[in-house]
Amino acid sequence: MRIVTIVGNRPQFVKAAAVSRRLRERHDERLIHTGQHYDDELSRIFFEELAVPDPDCELGVGAGSPTEQTARIIAGLERELRRFEPELVLVYGDTTSTLAGAIAAAQARIPLAHVEAGMRSFDRAMPEELNRVLTDHASDLLLCSTETAVRNLEREAAAGEIHLVGDVMADVSLAFARVAEERSRALEAHGVTRGEYVLVTAHRAGNVDHPARLARLVELLEALPLPAVFPVHPRTRARLEAAALMPRLEAAPRLRLTRPLGYLDFLTLARHARAILTDSGGVQKEAYLLGVPCVTLRDTTEWVETVELGWNVLVDLDRDAALRALERPRPSGKRPELYGGGRAGERISDVLASYTPRR
Ligand code: UDP
Repeated sequence: MRIVTIVGNRPQFVKAAAVSRRLRERHDERLIHTGQHYDDELSRIFFEELAVPDPDCELGVGAGSPTEQTARIIAGLERELRRFEPELVLVYGDTTSTLAGAIAAAQARIPLAHVEAGMRSFDRAMPEELNRVLTDHASDLLLCSTETAVRNLEREAAAGEIHLVGDVMADVSLAFARVAEERSRALEAHGVTRGEYVLVTAHRAGNVDHPARLARLVELLEALPLPAVFPVHPRTRARLEAAALMPRLEAAPRLRLTRPLGYLDFLTLARHARAILTDSGGVQKEAYLLGVPCVTLRDTTEWVETVELGWNVLVDLDRDAALRALERPRPSGKRPELYGGGRAGERISDVLASYTPRR
């Protein structure tokens, strides 16, 4: 089958690492990079470290509001889909590139497969939630990470075929665990000791785009009781600089600010952290997979199982709640396999191989 896969953001490069090479064993797959994330540290390093095939086409969409980017990506994709004439379009996750890919495929009447379908935070104020819902309802193949996602889609009576395949990010973190352990010197590089530091990420629009919330994030980080490594996402850095809050973080004695990290260094720091503090979806799930307690800087999550099993606590930007959550003893219960055990890529390839388009 001729497949076009659309990627554009950091988490999608990670997800493609579990799928693209495997698809190419059985199918003719082309990769289109929309250019939403284009810096070396958010894009190129992931292709290199995780051996994702080079993009066959780059749309170079550049910066802009989500609406501007959506429009530009759709226009670029219309042209490229006509050129490649795929029999199926594959999109990942919940970003502007996901939604634009879904609309372009649906308008070109090309069957659409959505990886990580059915995730819901039930918070429509999140741009990601809108992207998830709209993409799922334009999809012909809904490839789900969890049983909760399957139930969400059934409740919404989504029209596409639903398959529980497991989670592709789990595949990648399992596949690269040993390589990361061997190659990364991130703990030494950032001057932290196993089990004695916190790893932080924060870049959700809801946390960094509003000056009052950004100030609360800064207060929370200043109060952390342990050394903390914080790879600062470019969006967050830009907002901190605009609000003149960067010097405060730079002056916080326990905080080590860095550029965004490559996957192997990030995975190594995550594995050995006492706890992870994040507003990322992918990172909450990785914390669970690594057996590291997570404190989530949001009041909702799509990865509800991690909370139900006691490995993740939602604190929003409440400083005291975050500090209390960091003091909790490590959850003593088992960590059941929630995310497919590293076989999601294989299952996706199987589902696509046996798929017969209905239209
Ligand atoms: N990640 C990374 N370096 C960093 C921060 C994150 O390699 O400095 C990885 C992380 O391991 C995960 C992915 O990027 O696999 C998550 O991306 P992000 O938080 O941007 O996306 P989200 O999951 O929130 O959509």
